Amino acid sequence: MRCEACGRKIFGKPYKVIIEGARLTVCTDCSKHGKLVWEEEPKPKAAAKPRGPKPTLMIPVKRQPETTPTGTTVELIQDFDTKIRRAREELGFSHDDLGKKINEKVSLLRKIETRKMAPDNLLAAKLERTLKIKLIVPTSEEEIKIPPEKIAKATSRTLTLGDLIELNKKDKEETTRREQS
Ligand SMILES: [Zn+2]
Repeated sequence: MRCEACGRKIFGKPYKVIIEGARLTVCTDCSKHGKLVWEEEPKPKAAAKPRGPKPTLMIPVKRQPETTPTGTTVELIQDFDTKIRRAREELGFSHDDLGKKINEKVSLLRKIETRKMAPDNLLAAKLERTLKIKLIVPTSEEEIKIPPEKIAKATSRTLTLGDLIELNKKDKEETTRREQS
């Protein structure tokens, strides 16, 4: 293989560069004068048949982290059982009524209301719509909010190693003073 720029024989790896708008296969020296564009000629056949193990993206994942299209993580509210039961009773639905409305087994609804089971996202969405309640909330809403004064107290109580050394020093100073007097 010869360099398309200077005509010399290419030793080692040829470079594909753009020199003055032309795509050329050049030697190492000439590659410095052009803009390196592509490592190798594109090979669509090779790309279509990837060798080795399939990339992880290809493996179907049954349960992915619950993420809304907006990117916020959502979760089921803590008291979903009582919320569902109350909403159902307020609307005057029996388990049977609700089961028929959302096309779910009565036994399943009983299990959910007794907290033996948590509804999946699809069922939670159906219950939300039918009972006009909110069961799936963004994770942040469920976070325990610590008042700032409590955080301040907690930090002041935490002593660093440096603090402990300082305290030790003071202690010793006091003892020596006491001994001297
Ligand atoms: Zn060259």
